[in-house]
Amino acid sequence: MAARQFDIAVIGGGPCGIVAATYAAGGGRKVCLIDRKPSPGHPVRCGEAIGLKGFASTVELKPEWIQSKISYMKLVSPSGITVTVPNSYEGYVVDRERMEKDLTTDAVARGAEFIADTSIVSVSSRNGDGYECRSRDSVIHAQCVILAEGVESRLARNLGWSTSLSLRDIHSCAFARIAHDGVEPGTCVFYLGVKRAPGGYVWVFHRGGNTANVGLGVLGESCQKGMPRTLLEDFIREKFPGARVSDLHCGGVPMGRWIRPLVRGGVMLAGDAAHMMNCVSGAGIAYALYSGKIAGTVAAQSFVNGKCRPEMLGSYQDQWASFYGKQQDRSHAIKEVMVGFPDVFLDDVARSATKNCARKMSILSIFVKAFYKRPLLLLKVVRLLR
Ligand SMILES: Cc1cc2nc3c(=O)[nH]c(=O)nc-3n(C[C@H](O)[C@H](O)[C@H](O)COP(=O)(O)OP(=O)(O)OC[C@H]3O[C@@H](n4cnc5c(N)ncnc54)[C@H](O)[C@@H]3O)c2cc1C
Repeated sequence: MAARQFDIAVIGGGPCGIVAATYAAGGGRKVCLIDRKPSPGHPVRCGEAIGLKGFASTVELKPEWIQSKISYMKLVSPSGITVTVPNSYEGYVVDRERMEKDLTTDAVARGAEFIADTSIVSVSSRNGDGYECRSRDSVIHAQCVILAEGVESRLARNLGWSTSLSLRDIHSCAFARIAHDGVEPGTCVFYLGVKRAPGGYVWVFHRGGNTANVGLGVLGESCQKGMPRTLLEDFIREKFPGARVSDLHCGGVPMGRWIRPLVRGGVMLAGDAAHMMNCVSGAGIAYALYSGKIAGTVAAQSFVNGKCRPEMLGSYQDQWASFYGKQQDRSHAIKEVMVGFPDVFLDDVARSATKNCARKMSILSIFVKAFYKRPLLLLKVVRLLR
């Protein structure tokens, strides 16, 4: 089998890989973007919510991607106390399929070659002369490889990374799209409580018209086989009886710390494959876009006289660590405390928020107020954040 030659191979054409390929090609290198799916963006396994800040300095948000502007956040406590607050950050629910298609077109316009319908089964070192990426019926040689194949990443493990997550650091999720007249426009709703989603929460994100993305995550250590799907179906039946349900999928969200190191030799890990995620919200699109950008940029810059110098790839980890990496470590510490919140505490928070005119507060200020009533818990959070 004749091998095709590239400077940089990006494996995985989700938001991370697409942006990595765009920046690597923009840096003047010969780049391929490989995805096992026949076309970009489908199927979508995501709530598709992202703040405007999440696009900052990576890609420009196109108005045609926007399905809904998030104006309100609503929390429903375990016993049903509802708190609605205005969304303090500009945020949207976007059409990820369309976004990924457009971004892939941009990557190709910058010079990257998109190789669809190709599942890479192994990546191996060529003894100092780059890497060999193999699918069942093709071989690609590249001097530098960016692994962006999402949370199910196997290739990284085979290259020596420890990618397993403890059951405390993974959410098992079920997700669906619904159409129902009870969907609240411009609102993201979160339902809390051990009965609805042990160690996690249920979310309903308005997606334009009478449609919404609905999903839930159950903490790995509380999860049993089939549980997320059953809980989701029960929830939809209860809250949106008779809803038209489509695109039901299950998947995992990494809720641990990002994998270190991010670089081994000429291979870089990025996005979900590197477990990059806000561990409180489970939001990873912004992290994927940003890590893709810096991985692609640094990869292109590491070429001197046509050869990749792996020792120059280290600045990728430094840049990640000093920006989103720090934020993720904080979110992980907060998640560790939140997992222990009993339902009575969450009801208490909701009750005190309704007394304090929540419409003028943010979600954060509601929790801060609740912590004041529990100084020991506050102390624990402060210690974890140091
Ligand atoms: C149910 C659910 C809801 C979510 N909701 C939100 C949300 O509302 N907001 C948010 O910000 N984040 C959300 N996330 C997280 C978000 O979806 C991820 O963080 C984001 O998709 C990560 O992007 P990525 O490019 O790293 O990986 P992915 O999007 O997973 O892309 C990986 C790509 O690699 C390809 N691939 C995998 N293996 C191979 C292989 N061997 N060869 C070739 N190609 C391969 C796959 O086909 C895929 O296209 C959610 C996640 C889940 C599971």
